[in-house]
Amino acid sequence: MATQHTFDVAILGAGPAGMSAACSATALGLSTVVLDEQHSPGGQIYRAIETSPLTDRSILGKDYWHGASLVDNFARSGAIYEPRTTIWGLTPPQADSHWQIGVSRDGAASFVDARHVVLATGAQERPMPIPGWTLPGVLGAGAAQILLKSSGLVPSGRVVVAGSGPLLFLLITQLARAGARIARVLDTTPRGRLRTTLRHWGAFALSPYAAKGLRLALEACAKAKFERHVDAIEAAGSTHLEAVRYRTGGRERSVAADTLLLHQGIVPNINLAAAAGCTVQWDAQQASFRPRVDAFGASSIYGLSIAGDAAGIGGARMAEAQGRLAAFHAAYVLGRLNAAEFKQRTQEAKRELAHWSRGRAFVDAMYCPSGTFTIPDDRTIICRCEEVTAGAVRKAIRMGCQGPNQLKSFLRCGMGLCQGRFCGLTVNALFAHERNIVPEQVGYYRLRFPIKPLTLGELAALPQTLQSVQAVVRLPASYTVPAAS
Ligand SMILES: Cc1cc2nc3c(=O)[nH]c(=O)nc-3n(C[C@H](O)[C@H](O)[C@H](O)COP(=O)(O)OP(=O)(O)OC[C@H]3O[C@@H](n4cnc5c(N)ncnc54)[C@H](O)[C@@H]3O)c2cc1C
Repeated sequence: MATQHTFDVAILGAGPAGMSAACSATALGLSTVVLDEQHSPGGQIYRAIETSPLTDRSILGKDYWHGASLVDNFARSGAIYEPRTTIWGLTPPQADSHWQIGVSRDGAASFVDARHVVLATGAQERPMPIPGWTLPGVLGAGAAQILLKSSGLVPSGRVVVAGSGPLLFLLITQLARAGARIARVLDTTPRGRLRTTLRHWGAFALSPYAAKGLRLALEACAKAKFERHVDAIEAAGSTHLEAVRYRTGGRERSVAADTLLLHQGIVPNINLAAAAGCTVQWDAQQASFRPRVDAFGASSIYGLSIAGDAAGIGGARMAEAQGRLAAFHAAYVLGRLNAAEFKQRTQEAKRELAHWSRGRAFVDAMYCPSGTFTIPDDRTIICRCEEVTAGAVRKAIRMGCQGPNQLKSFLRCGMGLCQGRFCGLTVNALFAHERNIVPEQVGYYRLRFPIKPLTLGELAALPQTLQSVQAVVRLPASYTVPAAS
């Protein structure tokens, strides 16, 4: 791990946004490091593209293999790529120092220094808490896709897929092509959505997503039996999943199942940005929090740009354009481009961004999750790490708990390994619902580093400064900090 050097740009995440940012930054002569916890570049969409055991290209589809040229350009870009590197901290420059990125690799923690940071850490699946979702056999649809892409694994037995959104259609087709037996699809898109999204149809019809989306939906419907407008789901079983109970049109039904895959869209992964101190705001259209950024991805903190899904969900092709814009902005800030060159370079990327963002409003409005699946009933566990139920959260709110941060002291909710990634939005929704206020008024957890698990051994072995030692122990005046081993 390159720790002594200060890079011009550190890019956090090697998905489409990070890879395209790296290609543009290195082309402008900026020394660039790209950090990512995966074993190979690609991010979520192009995960394992260099190593996937799936030789039949039709299983993952044309959009997946588009990533090969991007990964190829990235490999030849000259950026230093650090795979298997988990980022747990991001500290803004103090006085005349630089950005300091806390990372762990192979059980050892260290810091990477950079003048400018492009955060491109992507998205995560929106939590879909239902009764029984902690049973073995129930998992996020994204997890099943990860197993398919990276290991060619397909769930055996009867698979039930539940939720809503374009990625759900994609996963159904990919799994079915790979040989999975999809017993039922429980589509939770509420009744009447086509009517309420009427005003967005025109832009969507002209967008690059319309034909592709229609093809996917038709293929998914041909390959699996759909139940529409499902408004309640429960995973049932004693030690593992045995059946999925659901309600549609007022009727209760049940289907035997060995695997239940849940998905209700994706939301920006905000933990790093929020813990670094960026302004984070509620996005009503996407029903999630996102960091505030300008047209070039510049965040509220000088020297930190955010690109791709980490700044708001837009998909892989938008992420590529945003990555380029962020790199040009970094080059401008670092004095590598003058104002005229910056303007000229960003024009093409802005056109691309506009092209790939067309139709997005339709997707957001059509697949915004319904309240039934964002505000769970009392018995549902919402914080999986600390096993806290929605009922316990409601009780705390009614006792006068002021918000998500005080809830941590009441119930330890959001204090486990995932640092609120699984429960943050549900806690926000429960407060908003109970208090009859908007999510923005509730706010989000105050996040702190490390945002990913870090062992005490790794922490203790980090190089110390005199100030950091003095912060925890009283030292004799003659004490000097020993050199890091
Ligand atoms: C589970 C999942 C599956 C998806 N599958 C598809 C798909 O098949 N097709 C599609 O069109 N869209 C898919 N998407 C949507 C996808 O997010 C975007 O289309 C696209 O990948 C966004 O690109 P990005 O560069 O912004 O982020 P990503 O591609 O998500 O890349 C972010 C990268 O950051 C890394 N990272 C994040 N946090 C850390 C950390 N703390 N330390 C180190 N590395 C970190 C991740 O490992 C990842 O490689 C998926 C999203 C999710 C959440």
